[in-house]
Amino acid sequence: MVSKEMYELGAKSSVIREIFEFGKKRAAEIGKENVYDFSLGNPSVPAPEKVNETIRKLTLEMEPCALHGYTSAVGDNETRQAIADDLNRRFGTSFSMNNFYMTAGAAASLCITFRALAEKDDEIIIFAPYFPEYQVFISASGAKPVEVKCKEDDLQIDLEAFKNAINEHTKAVVLNSPNNPSGVVTSEETVKAMTDILREKQKEYGKSIFLVSDEPYRELVYGDIKVPFLTKYYDNTIVCYSYSKSLSLPGDRIGYILVPNEVESFELIFKSVCGAGRSLGYVCAPSLMQFVIKECTGMTSDISVYKKNRDILVNAFTEYGFTLAKPDGAFYLFMKSPEESATAFCEKAKKYDLLLVPSDSFGFPGYVRLSYCVSTEMIERSLPSFKKLAEEYNLI
Ligand code: PLP
Repeated sequence: MVSKEMYELGAKSSVIREIFEFGKKRAAEIGKENVYDFSLGNPSVPAPEKVNETIRKLTLEMEPCALHGYTSAVGDNETRQAIADDLNRRFGTSFSMNNFYMTAGAAASLCITFRALAEKDDEIIIFAPYFPEYQVFISASGAKPVEVKCKEDDLQIDLEAFKNAINEHTKAVVLNSPNNPSGVVTSEETVKAMTDILREKQKEYGKSIFLVSDEPYRELVYGDIKVPFLTKYYDNTIVCYSYSKSLSLPGDRIGYILVPNEVESFELIFKSVCGAGRSLGYVCAPSLMQFVIKECTGMTSDISVYKKNRDILVNAFTEYGFTLAKPDGAFYLFMKSPEESATAFCEKAKKYDLLLVPSDSFGFPGYVRLSYCVSTEMIERSLPSFKKLAEEYNLI
């Protein structure tokens, strides 16, 4: 009667959602202030005031049918040009509006891109730990997701394993930096080495292998860390971007796909992106948000709050004896479970009302993820509970 595959996807909620729902139930029992929920990646700092100002201005000044009407299928031209201008200013690139397809966020950007690229028997490489939805999005495109584990010591890409995973079926590789769930930023050295491998493999197999850069956390980095802008390192790069995190607008669903002119057979690829957008019903991203982005692209929410949260947690966890990946970006912290089963560790943490996500669904067992896009005050209140948890494992 229905697609079994779709039923199963819909009936089974994600581990992260289950923990979040548990947190809400627990908060009703013991009070919100006594539950330390680190499960969800929902930005905790508001969008810049300019975003709200622009929404107010647009609703007052713009002709309503134009403001809320369909834009062209690829998106509003002036918005696309504003994004091109901003990136050109920041990264020394030379994009034009013709390189952009506006989308309803990174999830749509990824689904469209995979659907545009995937042919029968294609494989798409993802690096573990990864955003769990990659499995869903890639499988839905008809391609097969192929996992390559990052190195245990620094969670950077294992170049040897990456090289060995590429074969004649490899159509694309997805890089997500800064990373969800690890917070790790792929170093320039690693980017150079992996793009060298890709060029070598393209030559060996006589075909294009695309680098899909999933970068909703591009601007969320702390200290003097720089995130390499991948189109400058590898011609066959397609960027999937979203304003969900940089502008704290996850519910407003706005982002884009960037296909640079340097991508092999640009026309063919861009038209296939348009076709995939059409086939998936994703044409014409939300128009009010497109007009907001025209004015606000390149801005960020106040990310100093995330840096503060990260520093408090890293300092405390190091003192308590936990082992962490170096979280240079995004708003996630990836911590080694002190016992083999991360699920068992999360269950123990729950006794202290600390809600953490076990890493199994990220394809990298034995760790837990904490989203620190929460209030600093909650983090401070949670520390004695983390200390007790560390004591339970004799880490201190
Ligand atoms: N990619 C990664 C790595 C993410 O973490 C997320 C959301 O958390 C997405 C894509 C989807 O982002 P969006 O909300 O813009 O669809």
